[in-house]
Amino acid sequence: GELDPNDYETLERLGEGASGTVDKVRDRKTGKIMALKIITTSPNPAVHKQLLRELQFLNECKSPFIVDHFGSFLTSNDSCIGILMEFCEAGSLDSLLQRIKKRRARTSEKVLGRMAESVLGGLDYLHERKIIHRDIKPSNIVVTRKGEIKLCDFGVSGELVNSMAGTFTGTSYYMAPERIQGLPYSIKSDVWSMGLTLHEIAHNRFPFPPEGEPPLQGPIELLNFIVAQPVPKLIDSPAEGVVWSAKAQDFIAQWYARSHCIARRLLSDPVENKNSLVRDPSQRPYPRDLFKHPWIVESSKRNINLAKWVAALYEW
Ligand code: ADP
Ligand code: MG
Repeated sequence: GELDPNDYETLERLGEGASGTVDKVRDRKTGKIMALKIITTSPNPAVHKQLLRELQFLNECKSPFIVDHFGSFLTSNDSCIGILMEFCEAGSLDSLLQRIKKRRARTSEKVLGRMAESVLGGLDYLHERKIIHRDIKPSNIVVTRKGEIKLCDFGVSGELVNSMAGTFTGTSYYMAPERIQGLPYSIKSDVWSMGLTLHEIAHNRFPFPPEGEPPLQGPIELLNFIVAQPVPKLIDSPAEGVVWSAKAQDFIAQWYARSHCIARRLLSDPVENKNSLVRDPSQRPYPRDLFKHPWIVESSKRNINLAKWVAALYEW
């Protein structure tokens, strides 16, 4: 049946992004606590119909690695779309990373392994359904009180992307080089974004430019740098008790080394781009391939209590 926007009472603002807001809400009838994402869209009713149809797909996604969705509706002023989803108490990896940094703590290899495994699980689920996530980054990976790690905000709706064109900048530092360059992209672009995200969590720092190098002038310089430069390795910090295993190093190498090793000319504009590097995404592994990586196989056999990890960070 149709959802009524008046059925949900706002409890608090969870966050704001480029496309809209996310609130913690309570269903007045059932008392159920949920997260409500409100996205501003075009006021065109034809667009809304199509949009809501496309968003139906979200309700059919059922995976331990994907945030549960409960339905979507048009808000009472007819210019926004509301998407109801599972409230994840520990917030996004982005907010967890802030807490980790504040405590001057580091993420252990065990915890990172479980994160990698969960993101790969979510990506594999989406990719089996021919969905590219398109926006893997720390703030779109959310964590429950139980320590489950799940993906949210994936690109099920072409109509949504179109109707948000005015508000959504479309640029993110987590975008794969082929996307930054406006080249065709595929589900492998999500694997790039996952690698970058894991690298950032491992180091409490976005990987570009590498530590010790001067900061870049601005966003364009940073994007150009990401396209052209190799990804830094995982660096040990024995003083903080961080020593990466050979398997972890190799997992990261699988993601980046094979993503940039092939240099070739951009065919579209051979003169202008004579010296451009194109990181060949065809060399990048699929999530399915990475599942078989020894680091992930090892991680999946481990007994890791992420609920305890989350509780410690939040002092629950
Ligand atoms: P962005 O992902 O760019 O930060 P969003 O509008 O998608 O912008 O989300 C804003 C914030 O809301 C996120 O950073 C996250 O911390 C929080 N959030 C999103 N979805 C959920 C959810 N299902 N449960 C808990 N917090 C969420
Ligand atoms: Mg988001």
